[in-house]
Amino acid sequence: MVKVKTKLVSWDEVVEWCRLLALKVEEDSWRPDLVVAVARGGYVPARLICDFLDIHDLVSLQILHWGKAAEITAEAHVKYPYTLNLSGKKILLVDDIIDTGDSVIIAKKFITENWKPAELKVAAMQWISPVAKIKPDYFVEDVKDWIWYQYPWTRAEDTTNFFEKILDEKAKEGKNEWSLEELIGEFKAWYGIDVGEKYYSLALKRLLDSGLLTEAGENIYRYMKEKRVSK
Ligand code: ADP
Repeated sequence: MVKVKTKLVSWDEVVEWCRLLALKVEEDSWRPDLVVAVARGGYVPARLICDFLDIHDLVSLQILHWGKAAEITAEAHVKYPYTLNLSGKKILLVDDIIDTGDSVIIAKKFITENWKPAELKVAAMQWISPVAKIKPDYFVEDVKDWIWYQYPWTRAEDTTNFFEKILDEKAKEGKNEWSLEELIGEFKAWYGIDVGEKYYSLALKRLLDSGLLTEAGENIYRYMKEKRVSK
């Protein structure tokens, strides 16, 4: 039984969504002078949109979130506020997905107040319309039922976080020893996706390095709950 609805996104899908997004901007007869990527999720889409629109000016603004993959995040804020003079310029602000909308709202406010562009529009591949507090000017998918998009650029991070979530939940039922195969089995059952051996091994290594898992025998790993720090 899948516990968190998750979609495994391929690189090809990302390229196609960005091509369609760029097309929407073009069809609107609106041409930005500069693209701003909301870091980190907007980096790859912003770069692809630059390619499809033949735009050579790309900067980014990092919005920091607390909280983990597929969990509700807390207050978002600009991590490295810096100054740019964009007076007279038209800006396209790009993110991967608008979920709550908080990051885009904060980025938009910061840019408008501090960089003072002539115009600012927002583009995102996905817009989770029932929960988002903002509607992007351009989007490709209107997501009616909340789902976690497992984008290729967060695959290692998400796999690690998902493993951690499974370990933590199962520890509540008294399970603290795992083989990698068991963990992978739970991962597939909970999230309904398969990210492949390389990512499972990478996630396992990260959990061992952090001390959250320790080796307790051949292919037996013990969950060290006390090492868990909520991020
Ligand atoms: P936003 O502020 O754009 O609604 P959040 O504040 O919820 O987004 O989360 C910020 C970032 O977290 C997003 O830009 C995206 O990279 C990631 N994220 C949020 N929700 C999802 C989701 N449903 N699927 C995949 N990634 C997500």
